[in-house]
Amino acid sequence: MKTTLWNPIRGCHKISTGCKHCYIELGDKKHGRDFDTIEVTHQYDHPIRKNKKGEYVIPSGTLVYTCFSSDFLLEDIDIYRHDFWSMIKERSDLTFLFLTKRIERFMDVMPSDFESSYPHVHVGVSVENQEMADLRLPYLMKAPIKHKSIICQPLISPINLSLYLQGIELVVVGGEASKDGRIMDLSWVDAIRKECLQAHIDFSYRQAASNTMKQGILYRIPWNKLTKDAHETIFKT
Ligand code: SF4
Repeated sequence: MKTTLWNPIRGCHKISTGCKHCYIELGDKKHGRDFDTIEVTHQYDHPIRKNKKGEYVIPSGTLVYTCFSSDFLLEDIDIYRHDFWSMIKERSDLTFLFLTKRIERFMDVMPSDFESSYPHVHVGVSVENQEMADLRLPYLMKAPIKHKSIICQPLISPINLSLYLQGIELVVVGGEASKDGRIMDLSWVDAIRKECLQAHIDFSYRQAASNTMKQGILYRIPWNKLTKDAHETIFKT
């Protein structure tokens, strides 16, 4: 499937401990931008832009990673939300995927026809520990979203997801990518994988943490080896 990025907004505000090493904030710091200033970008209307032939620039069938330079459910974005929902509805031939740590706002900001007109929207809720899982996932369970995922990244403590797996299509797990990032123990990953297997839910282990623990031994892994080499060498069992 073809993929593309649609980042109509940039900037965010930290909301929980999972935001500690936010990669958007890091990128903004490098470029001298104020991360807490929320700005519209040049990609604002990207999904409905057309070329000279009158065809949409984003081809039909594309998976659109949506708002990966902010949190799509951020309060500051509400003034633009009508436009965003309207563009998403117009492009029902695409798949839109956004991730959020603010799923408790979903019911208040979704369009009234969400259930019937937005089956092409996939939502992933990020939870970094049990406290955030218990807080956020009940909202995900209640929301009338057809395609739901749980994103345990950065995983910074064990999480029991068993109460929240009904209606979930995919669980993603990954560690924190930062030299001084928090430790992820592979036994926590394995426990989540087993819960998913038991519940017949797809599971994806996205990456190790820069500081990964296996059987009591701490491995410090360079960022460029997190996704591939770590598993082929260090963690192969
Ligand atoms: S919610 Fe996401 S984008 Fe916003 S500060 Fe936290 S990690 Fe960064």
